[in-house]
Amino acid sequence: MTVRLRVAPSPTGDPHVGTAYMSLFNLAFVRQQGGQFVLRIEDTDRARFRADSEQQVFDMLSWLGLQWDEGPDKGGPFAPYRQSERLETYQPHVEKLLADGHAYYCWCTPERLQEMREDQQRRKVPTGYDRLCYGKTFEERAALPGCSDVPVVRMLIPDDPPLHFTDLIRGEVNAPMPDDQVILKADGFPTYHLAVVVDDHLMGITHVVRGEEWISSTPKHLLLFDWLGWERPAFAHMPLLRNVDKSKISKRKNPAARLTWFVEQGYLPEALLNFLGLLGYSLPSGEEIFTFSEMSESFDWTRVNTVGPVFDLDKLSWLNGHYIRELAEDDLAARLVPFLTEAGWYDGSAEHAALLAGSVPLIQTRMAVLSEVVDLLRFLFVADEDFVVDPVAVEKSLVGAVPVLTAAADALEPLTSWSTEAIQTAMDAALLDGLGLKRGKAYAPVRAAVCGSTIAPPLPESMALLGKDRVLRRLRGAPVL
Ligand code: GLU
Repeated sequence: MTVRLRVAPSPTGDPHVGTAYMSLFNLAFVRQQGGQFVLRIEDTDRARFRADSEQQVFDMLSWLGLQWDEGPDKGGPFAPYRQSERLETYQPHVEKLLADGHAYYCWCTPERLQEMREDQQRRKVPTGYDRLCYGKTFEERAALPGCSDVPVVRMLIPDDPPLHFTDLIRGEVNAPMPDDQVILKADGFPTYHLAVVVDDHLMGITHVVRGEEWISSTPKHLLLFDWLGWERPAFAHMPLLRNVDKSKISKRKNPAARLTWFVEQGYLPEALLNFLGLLGYSLPSGEEIFTFSEMSESFDWTRVNTVGPVFDLDKLSWLNGHYIRELAEDDLAARLVPFLTEAGWYDGSAEHAALLAGSVPLIQTRMAVLSEVVDLLRFLFVADEDFVVDPVAVEKSLVGAVPVLTAAADALEPLTSWSTEAIQTAMDAALLDGLGLKRGKAYAPVRAAVCGSTIAPPLPESMALLGKDRVLRRLRGAPVL
């Protein structure tokens, strides 16, 4: 059997980190098994639909290197892959369910349903549709209050639905009793529940891998598979990603729920992928740093966590620092360019490219995220007229600093070779031997004056890159207190 898995995001805004997490686990299994991975866009919720969201899903999954084999942009044997383009596909199945007595029309208005729910809550009975419309013709129903002209279609849940099923990750699962779920809305769109089953069947999906929030829906899906005479796929429900306080990660509460946030911050896709893998999976060797291929080769559903993994950004930063250090210098430089360009400093000239190439070895071990380059290299790329010394650095390192800065400038001025070694030798002679200072004390004011901050790449190297004129100007013009 060729395995076919899918991820089925709803285009309702910035792509959620859960979409990447689900795609990763789907794809780890697919690639191990030599199967196919489908990207299906579940856009039946028109109220929450956002037009640019689908493209963002494509962009973010591509950025992570999670490539699908079939999808709205790629096509494939089961196209279209957007549910809104498949509306006529669902209708015959609704007709069959109605004809077989597994579904019925419901004309209740939203107001009537609201009242019914409030009444159930007041009486502390389980909430769920009370079947007022079941078995009635429109005329019979219209004689009662709260009746609309356009019906929805509901499933008729039997007394003994399949509440127990086998999950690849969790083993035997007991799901709660469902109520008579709407499967076709008044606007003619199927709900998620009908569309997901019809599409999973028609697209030949063999394994449904999704978040644990769908466990309670699975009995409804199993019923639909059975009623329509279709083979049930296997199910695996992944644990939900959680905030440090154990709540579910949501885009409203946690910026890290948005995939674009990781790009903005400068996390590397390889680090994020490793992190997401680690959240739900462990390699048999226990090794925490692994590639997609390593995860995929060893993949085993029984090694997937069932406990909601906590989204620990410190761990991600640690991983990211590791992957940054592993990059070839020119690769790192290329990945830093967008951040420097965004800051308005990088103009792509040969001069800027050389400055960046020279500074990469100085900062490669000092970054946890790429966006830190903006603070680390501000001194080098910012226009001279925009250069300012951070007030904290002034306060900390430039009080009474005139003698040190003057001695440094006087020692550097005569240099004919502007190399790291020449700079260091001249500074050490003037400040350590001449003024009798320890290197830390001697370099701090020079660093503040030249780099504008207390945190900067190694000083003599930074000064060599910055050039003699700019260094001397900054030493002589420092805002000393
Ligand atoms: N459209 C659903 C979602 O956004 C898909 C759930 C599923 O994979 O069945 O999560």
